Order: sequence, then C-alpha cells, then structure tokens
Amino acid sequence: MARSTAGDRSGGGRKRAVPRSPRAVKQRLESLADAGVLDLPRAKPGLDDPEETPTADAASLPARAIPPASVSPKAPAKRGAKVSDAASRVAALEILRTEVAGCRACVHLAEARTNTVFGSGNPAARLCFLGEAPGADEDASGEPFVGRAGQLLTKIIEACTLTRDEVYILNVLKCRPPENRRPEPEEVANCRGYFERQIEAIRPEFICCLGTSAAQSLLRTDETIGKLRGRWFDYGPATVICTYHPSYLLRNPAAKRDVWDDMQHLMARMGIEMPHKGPGG
Ligand code: SF4
Repeated sequence: MARSTAGDRSGGGRKRAVPRSPRAVKQRLESLADAGVLDLPRAKPGLDDPEETPTADAASLPARAIPPASVSPKAPAKRGAKVSDAASRVAALEILRTEVAGCRACVHLAEARTNTVFGSGNPAARLCFLGEAPGADEDASGEPFVGRAGQLLTKIIEACTLTRDEVYILNVLKCRPPENRRPEPEEVANCRGYFERQIEAIRPEFICCLGTSAAQSLLRTDETIGKLRGRWFDYGPATVICTYHPSYLLRNPAAKRDVWDDMQHLMARMGIEMPHKGPGG
C-alpha cells in the first residue's frame, strides 16, 4: 500500500498465445529455465555494492521530498535459493498472465481488445516502470510500450545505462481503452488486483510511475503529476518516483529535461552511474 507522505499510447492483430493449464504453465517455466531466466542478473556490476558512489545526489531533491524506506544491500544467496526464488516469481507472473488473458471484468474493454497487455521484462527486476494503459500498437502486439511512446521509453531506459530486459514494464490497465481515453475509476478498480499482484510477485526495489494516471492509481492520490514529481514515496518495500509519461514528451519535448532530472535522481538512488547527456533532446 502506498504511503504518501503518489499508457503507452502509441495498429496489426497478432493474437498472443497464452498458456491456460497448469501443464502449459509448467512447460513455459521449463522453457524459461532452459533459456536461463532463472538466473537473471539483477543489476549491473557494482549495483549491489553499498560502497558504490552515485554520480548525482538524491538528497538534492526538493525539501518536500519524503525519505523512502531504507533499501538493504542484497545478501549473497546460494544458487539453489536464487533459482527457487526466480522460479516462484516467474510462476506467480505466469498464473497472473493467464488470469488476465481471460478477464472480462470491464466488458466493453474485453470486447474491443485484440490482446490483453500483461507486461514484460525481468521478473526479478530492481526497477518497474508503471504506465497507464495499452495503446493501439500495444493492443495489436500484446506487448507494453512498443509504439512511439514506447520507443521513447526505451531510449530513456537505455540512457540510464539499462535495457528493457533488465527492468519490468507494466500498465495499470491491461486492456486498451477506446480512443486512448484515460482509464475510468471503475476500470482501474477492476484491474488494480492485477498490477498490485504483479508488483508483489516481482518485488522491485523501485517503481517509476509514468504520468498522472499511473501515479494516482498506484499511490491512491488525486494529486497531479506536477505535484508528485520531485518527491519520494513508499509502496510497500519499494521506493516510488513519478515522472511524465513518454506520450506527454512526444507532445511537449521541452519536458524531456524534467524527465532526465527525475531519472538522474532515480539512478543515483539506485546506485547506478549515469552519463551526463540525456536521451537525445
Ligand atoms: S482492463 Fe483489467 S480488469 Fe478490465 S477487462 Fe482488462 S484485464 Fe480485466
């Protein structure tokens, strides 16, 4: 639960194959294990090192910033425990993915969708990006943030010296609202259990809310993104930061500087060394 001290909008029609039986889930887990997903790297070299010196000082956030819960350095784990932990996260996510694929709680959204858009990335990611809802490209592909806004998000992630495979990307809503309108409160309430359980399964140390809808939904607040930026929040054990949605940046390129500032604060808090230049403009 959040303590406030807070869509990718971007067409094709490929249907996503979703395992629907325990056996199918087991087969998917085994194939993921074969692909090495059970031993995913959680961070770049040095990220788990509490002695690592960040390049920017998170304490330079405005005075209204709320100190987050302290984040403990990872204790070294035995390989067996690591594999078991990763397997449980993957299993929990696959069960959820199957539930979402069959969900019709928002009948109008379920009838209009091509695919549900569950989320993608590292099941053991330190950092989750939470967006609003799928757009046309995402609905067509079944993957989050693949349209123009998604491409910009990818640039932002890469500018942070990370890759999409190292983070986890999800939306509040798993189905595309018509005409890319903002999600209705009832739709958010219907889908809340899914994104909350996703985050619970991944157990990220950090969550970055993209835009007003994501921030308000996660943090159960009615404050706008302009008021939520520049502050830290707690969501369970995770530290939360809020920034503008990439689709807003497409309409207002000047705001890229603000997002870059937010990312620098976030990376500093994560102990990730950042380049001085932003994601191209
Ligand atoms: S938006 Fe969420 S709650 Fe609504 S139908 Fe889609 S998966 Fe179900």
